[in-house]
Parts: sequence; structure tokens; C-alpha cells
Amino acid sequence: MKLPTQVDVLIVGGGPVGGALALSLANSQLSVAVLEARLQPGEDARALAIAHASQQTLVALDVWPSAAATAIHSVHVSQQGGFGRVRLRAADLDLPVLGYVLPYVALAKTIHAHLQAASGARLHYLTGCRAIRLQTLDGYAVVNVEGDGQTALMTARLVVLAEGGQLLAEAGIGQDQYDYEQRAITAEVRTDKPHGGVAFERFATDGPIAMLPKDDGYAMVWTRPKDDPLDAANLDEVGFLRELQARLGDRVGRLNHAGPRAVFPLRLKWASSHQARRVAVVGNAAQTLHPVAGQGFNLGLRDALTLARVIHSVPTAQLGQATMLARYADLRKVDSLTTIGVTDGLIRLFGNGAPLLRHFRAAGFLAMDNFKPLRRGFAQRMVFGSR
Ligand SMILES: Cc1cc2nc3c(=O)[nH]c(=O)nc-3n(C[C@H](O)[C@H](O)[C@H](O)COP(=O)(O)OP(=O)(O)OC[C@H]3O[C@@H](n4cnc5c(N)ncnc54)[C@H](O)[C@@H]3O)c2cc1C
Repeated sequence: MKLPTQVDVLIVGGGPVGGALALSLANSQLSVAVLEARLQPGEDARALAIAHASQQTLVALDVWPSAAATAIHSVHVSQQGGFGRVRLRAADLDLPVLGYVLPYVALAKTIHAHLQAASGARLHYLTGCRAIRLQTLDGYAVVNVEGDGQTALMTARLVVLAEGGQLLAEAGIGQDQYDYEQRAITAEVRTDKPHGGVAFERFATDGPIAMLPKDDGYAMVWTRPKDDPLDAANLDEVGFLRELQARLGDRVGRLNHAGPRAVFPLRLKWASSHQARRVAVVGNAAQTLHPVAGQGFNLGLRDALTLARVIHSVPTAQLGQATMLARYADLRKVDSLTTIGVTDGLIRLFGNGAPLLRHFRAAGFLAMDNFKPLRRGFAQRMVFGSR
């Protein structure tokens, strides 16, 4: 294992957020290293709803796998057992599309290939290398790296945690968690009706269902209780489609095929800060959200972009210093807190079956559907975040 011993910026985690950050820094004069535990992106069943603004960022970084993307022109939101619905349209925001649906793997592989291609004297993309320990000092941080059966030490002016958050405690950053006691089941589903670029968010009485247009069918995300009385993840295909159809009604047409299912545990996690001595935190390491509103990656990408801007704005000697890190954390506070709040609020608002709340939600749908500024404001925050 041949590693550089000293770099300006060391990014731990080469997932979509850490990878995007590294590519944003690739044309600078800084020496940057990315440690990625995997040798290459593995299988992952999730599809990501990518907001229009995030897609523009990925295009600018030259990592937009357009052939794998399906456009979302509108989003249809409704609740089971209650009247009213909201339709958010791209035209509300004067945009060509609201966003896209993209397999996580397609994005991860494209970023992986670009990091490999960009790897050279200044950018070191180190796959199969895991950070196992982090120590921070006033002037720099030290990371113990394991790979190829060996261990080594690397030092950096700034360490960026983009690894999901396992090393937060070593940086002295706390993490709060809330277990939703839920799991997300994903599957590709087909119906007899073309999707027309419409994404459906259906708040069924026993858990939300997202139907994201993908190729000629849908990428489905169905939230179920952890101890699922239906055991939906293991139903046979006919039983699974029957239960799903009962909750969706006929708005997507007749369901006629469900591919293999995958299950993801759902937990809200948030770091107590986006920074600590010599450390910045981005993506899922800073906040891991419930996938109901499709915001986790979009928010993480905004972390990466902001951090890249702050890094570009300071002389190399000031990298990782307290003022620079405080500025980054300050810039991320509002967007992070409001996105966590909106996502978590949706779960709580729609997870409660009380009849009074059902009527309250229906009234909200009605107001939003008929009042463009309200609709526009909501869609704007989902597409661009809090600016
Ligand atoms: C079912 C589901 C559906 C979702 N749908 C959406 C959606 O529609 N829209 C959306 O915006 N978001 C969605 N999300 C959230 C989204 O997947 C995440 O927010 C996003 O993947 C975060 O990217 P990341 O790079 O921060 O972390 P990750 O994708 O978790 O990548 C972290 C990387 O760090 C590496 N790593 C870990 N530990 C170490 C270490 N010690 N050393 C070196 N490397 C390490 C890992 O191998 C991995 O490659 C969904 C999530 C789920 C579960």
C-alpha cells in the first residue's frame, strides 16, 4: 500500500458526497486524498430522486450519467383515506423538470470512474483503504489507514468526514439518533399505464409509499414498520402487488410486476456540529435522513459544494483553521436544520392516523393545490434547499 504521508485535504469516504467534493477540488493547487473502504462501488438497490439543482451540479462536475436518468416533471402527493391532493409541477418553478430518478449505483460508478481518471500527482483516490482512527491536533489531523493487510499514517491540514459518521466521536463530535422503528423496502415495479414523468408520494395509513418514475416503470420505496404485520418484504409477487395496489388505488394504473426487494433500516441521525478541530463533516455523516422526501443526497451535495467554496476562498495556510471551519458550519446550519425538520415533520404529520389530523392534512393539500405561492415555496425548498 503506497500512500502519500501528508496532504492538504483528506476526505474519508468516496461515496457520492465525498466523491463530488473531491472532484470540486480537483482543479485546485491543493493536494487532496480520498480514502474509500471499498475497491469499487458494489450492488445497491436504491434509486435517488435528484433535484434539478443537484443535477446541474453533477453536470458541472461532468459526472451526470444521463443515460441512466428518468426525468420527473411533476410530483403527485395524496393520502389514503382522506380527500385532497397536491400536484407540484416543474412549471411552478419555471424549470424544465423538477428533478430526475437515478440508480445510486449509476452515480457511484460514474464518480468512481472520474476519480480514477483524475487521480494523479495532486488527487489521490485510494480505494480499498479504510480510515480506522482519527486524532486531531492544533496544526493538523492524523488518520490511521488500513488496506491491503497493512496500516499507515496520513496527516492533513483538514480531514473531511464523508463516511456516514462512524468517526464522529473520534473528532469529538456528538451524534443524536432517532429510530423510526421502520424499514424501507425498495423494488422496481411496473404497471399497465405510462408514468408520464409523474412521481407519486402516497401517504398510506400504515406508511408512506414513493413511486418514482424510472425507465418504463417505477422505483418504489415503501416504508413499513420494523415488525411488519404484513411481512411485505417477503410476500410472493402476487401478494405484494395486491397489498401495494390496495394502498395506491388506481392512480398509477394496474401493477403487474415487482422485481427483487431490498430492505434498509430507517434512522434519523444528526451530528451535533458540521465541524471540530481540523475536521469538517458532510453528507450522511452530518445528517442521515428518512428517505420519504428524497432529500438526503441533495442535502449532502449542498454540504460538499459549500465546503468546496469555503476551501477555495482561503489561502492554503488557513485550511482547517477554526475561522474557516466555523464559517463552513455557519453556512450549513439553516439548510441542514430545516431539511431535517421538514423531512421528520412529514413522517410525524402523516404517520398519525387520527381523523382530525386527516382532515387537517386534507385542508393543507387543498390550500397548497389552489394557492400557487404556497406550492411554489414548498417545491422551491425541495429543489434548492434553504438559501
Ligand atoms: C432507501 C433509500 C432511498 C433514498 N432515496 C434518496 C433520494 O431519493 N434522494 C436523496 O437525495 N437521497 C436519498 N437517500 C439518501 C442517500 O442515499 C444518502 O443521503 C447518500 O447516499 C449519502 O451519500 P454519502 O456519500 O454521504 O454517504 P454514503 O453513500 O453512505 O457513502 C459513504 C462512503 O464512505 C465509505 N466509508 C465508510 N466508512 C469508511 C471508512 N472508515 N474509511 C473509508 N471509507 C469509508 C463507504 O464505503 C461509502 O462508499 C436514500 C437512502 C435510502 C436508504
